[in-house]
Amino acid sequence: MQKLFQKKYDYLSYCKPVIDRCINCGDHEQVQATITMEFGEGNYNTGPICRKCYLNHKGPRIVQF
Ligand SMILES: [Zn+2]
Repeated sequence: MQKLFQKKYDYLSYCKPVIDRCINCGDHEQVQATITMEFGEGNYNTGPICRKCYLNHKGPRIVQF
């Protein structure tokens, strides 16, 4: 099976903060990274995650390589 999981860091945020809707909490916050999260069996959602959620939920809920 091909790996569907990917995690991309938004390096642009270092010089220009990106505000977007966090896929975890739904708030418009500064995006820390773009991640793929598993919401259930076979249900994946890729999108931006804010700094707060990234730090709080870095773990089993975030799919990594
Ligand atoms: Zn969030």
